[in-house]
Amino acid sequence: MIRPADLIQRKRDGEELGAAELRELILGYARDEVPDYQLAAFCMAVYFRGLSSAETFALTDAMIRSGETIDLGAELGGRKVVDKHSTGGVGDKTSLAVGPIVAACGVPFGKMSGRGLGHTGGTLDKLESIPGFRVELSREEFVRQVREVGIAIIGQTADLVPADKKLYALRDVTATVDNVSLIAASIMSKKIAGGADAIVLDVKVGDGAFMKSLADARGLAEAMLELGRRAEREVVCLLTDMDQPLGHAVGNALEIAEAHATLLGDGPGDFTELVLAASSHLLARSDLGLDEAQGRARAQSAIDDGRAAEVWDRWIRAQGGDPDPGSLPRAPVVSAVAATRDGFVHRLGAIRVGVAALELGAGRRAKEDAIDHAVGIVCHKKRGDSVRAGEPLAEIHAARAGDAEAAAAAVLEAYELSDAAPPAQPIVLDVLSS
Ligand code: URA
Repeated sequence: MIRPADLIQRKRDGEELGAAELRELILGYARDEVPDYQLAAFCMAVYFRGLSSAETFALTDAMIRSGETIDLGAELGGRKVVDKHSTGGVGDKTSLAVGPIVAACGVPFGKMSGRGLGHTGGTLDKLESIPGFRVELSREEFVRQVREVGIAIIGQTADLVPADKKLYALRDVTATVDNVSLIAASIMSKKIAGGADAIVLDVKVGDGAFMKSLADARGLAEAMLELGRRAEREVVCLLTDMDQPLGHAVGNALEIAEAHATLLGDGPGDFTELVLAASSHLLARSDLGLDEAQGRARAQSAIDDGRAAEVWDRWIRAQGGDPDPGSLPRAPVVSAVAATRDGFVHRLGAIRVGVAALELGAGRRAKEDAIDHAVGIVCHKKRGDSVRAGEPLAEIHAARAGDAEAAAAAVLEAYELSDAAPPAQPIVLDVLSS
């Protein structure tokens, strides 16, 4: 029988812990036998001392053992299951467009997603802006829908990695979220328990992401690749730019509309590029036997010939929603943020825009907060765009005029204008694979 205080002390002093010890600690915590305050101290010790790759794998494995696992491939008659996950950013609606594209190409897309907390939005909150959409399906409904419609995106079931649910909430209030080993174990435990054979990870880098520098993002990517190797899952990490919001729209219903427009071939350039890159990597690791270039061509043709948009309609209807973007809620106050001078957008701070959207009501500060699905920000001008004084940089969608004014001031601060255009930066900064 372990004594949690001993493990905390040994980790605090920089010792490497054994797999059995970590398993007992985490399973004890999941069963409410180890209290929050001891796990909080343990996470802080890990934050400062780190975990070795063997310890990170032991933590991941223990978290998976805290609940049920799903063998989605077996339930789909032996299909290879591919999944994607993002480490979280501002305006990140990638799964909403990638899912229908991949499904339209004949690869099943069954995904469990999360809610947003802080300045990063969550896929479930976005989907719930669609009138009637149900994110809580039973396991049987989930599997049936993936089999019959080709796609389902639902909330993580309570039985899947319950230790992560508890631990994530604890980390969130003890300043221990942004540790590479803890993030890697949290993400990979959910993907492995959910039955993914191949996983495409979108590791966000920059001002609006957990990982602020390319070096830190590479560290996180390497940790997840190593967990994939140990668990015998194929993993590819796309390191992608989160110095500015992704696409134009930030806010739940606004992002749904933008994802739908992208499926019709009318999406923002950076977002469309990321959607095609993620889709091509998923298709290249599917059982279709394609390489990445062929995957990209298939993804592009699913947009061009309307099949991806048709899958969207079938998917949203299957989960009880109205697929017509005209049915999305709209904010009563819409106002423009005008440029104060001529020039080029040198920077558009993602975190400032994310926090402004949060203040408008698009996100929640605490888990129990309600969300206003209609509100948000549309950043018409992005890094490198030219602008004239008085021209709209962005548009605020607010519930009240006072909220719109406060958000407009914050968004104006997020824009840095300069005389010359900054150097162009691609959306996909690097790709690492196992
Ligand atoms: N996303 C997760 O699922 N877990 C983390 O720890 C951080 C981001």
